[in-house]
Amino acid sequence: MDAPRLRFAPSPSGFLHIGGARTALFCWLLARRHGGTFILRVEDTDAARTTDESIAAIVEGMEWLGLDWDEGPRVGGPHAPYFQSGRKEIYGKYIDQLVAEGKVYRCYCTPEQLQAKREKAMAEGRPPIYDGEWRDRDPSEWPPGEPYVLRLRAPTDGETVVDDLVKGRVVFPNKELGDQVVVRSNGDPLYNFVVVIDDMLMGMTHVVRGDDHLSNTPKQIQLYDALGVTPPVFAHVPMILGADKKRLSKRHGATSVTQYRDEGFLADAMVNYLARLGWSHGDQEIFSRDELIAAFDLGSVGKSPGVWDPDKLLWVNAQHIAGLDTDTLADLVAPMIAAAGFPPQPVDALFKTRLDTLRGRARKLDEFVTAGAFYWQDNASVDYAQNPKAVKKFLKPTTAVYLEAAIEELEGLDAWTEQSLEDAITPLLERFEVKMGKLAQPIRVSVTGTNVSPGLFETLFALGRDKTIPRIRRGIGLCHESPPQGA
Ligand code: GLU
Repeated sequence: MDAPRLRFAPSPSGFLHIGGARTALFCWLLARRHGGTFILRVEDTDAARTTDESIAAIVEGMEWLGLDWDEGPRVGGPHAPYFQSGRKEIYGKYIDQLVAEGKVYRCYCTPEQLQAKREKAMAEGRPPIYDGEWRDRDPSEWPPGEPYVLRLRAPTDGETVVDDLVKGRVVFPNKELGDQVVVRSNGDPLYNFVVVIDDMLMGMTHVVRGDDHLSNTPKQIQLYDALGVTPPVFAHVPMILGADKKRLSKRHGATSVTQYRDEGFLADAMVNYLARLGWSHGDQEIFSRDELIAAFDLGSVGKSPGVWDPDKLLWVNAQHIAGLDTDTLADLVAPMIAAAGFPPQPVDALFKTRLDTLRGRARKLDEFVTAGAFYWQDNASVDYAQNPKAVKKFLKPTTAVYLEAAIEELEGLDAWTEQSLEDAITPLLERFEVKMGKLAQPIRVSVTGTNVSPGLFETLFALGRDKTIPRIRRGIGLCHESPPQGA
């Protein structure tokens, strides 16, 4: 592929949809892999659906995923997208050209007449396409002042072939396509026409899009032919379905890309997951962005739809979290901790150590906030009411003795390291003739309020002396109180 030019051309719908994001990603990967150009073109000709917010949502989604585009108006900063709404005059020029060359003709049929034609064709078992009534009329027959549309004078026999990089050769008999409308009676060009003009003028070499557009493609190819231009190469990517094999929708979970960001997914994980949805590369599941750029090709995009699998997405996210450098992780999680209402945390070595203790189990970023709540709370706000059963089971008069012994050992420590903590606590097992769990759980519940946390010594080390010793004291107090309600 020689320096391809590709575009993502979303119609603003309020957010960047998962399916659109995957199409954008495929285009971006091809452009990046082959030293090409990637363009973002917002198809905003439907003014009613286009708001500043819906455009901003697309840009936000693209920026979050890191799918940068290379062209577009620019004042300082990054490129703005192209907007179809600003290109009306350009479309007008090409309409004039087609009119002058006789490639389009006026059709004065009323909507009622067209409806009658469709019904008749269907009743006779013919495809419900326009019958060419006005195709060969002389201008002297044009009814003055009546509204008309412009139709393409399309070939009536033969076939239009889409040589698709994903679907293979798809053949459309021309007699089933009919003479498409190019310009409405109010002068507005139709969707297929503006897409063709834009793709032509923007020099697109490849059009990669969802296969819901496959039926538009022969019409677009006929327009390229009328304009005397070689069409781009097409690749129609299968849809994404939910587990029930229905088209992905809100019923299957979030369909907006940025909602996944808000739920604690990493952009790299989302990119990895989306790329693998419908494309494969041997058995490899986990890819860095650079690996994807090096490996992605349309030849390995499957013909069948991708099935959205939330569990796999979580797994992919966990793998990326596991591999993330701690500084980046800290920058992502610190604002989430603040947003959840915990006291501000200095992003220092201790903070990063705490994150590292939580990393092994975290599938989403928000789990660093929730599973690590005991790290972020000050001592007074540790919530012993969250797990009354654990408090009742592990903080009782008979376990106070373990906590008292632990405090004595820990208070005497000069160095607070994982090793020194282990060396201090382990001899107590022999002294009390108990297994680790018996001793560890009362300590764990005292310092975290729950019976689940990372390994005891790494937890105590990362919690620090000032949050460990007062909390174990608090635990001793609880051992002597009556059990909390709900236990
Ligand atoms: N605007 C169309 C859509 O959002 C895409 C058109 C195209 O890629 O050719 O579905």
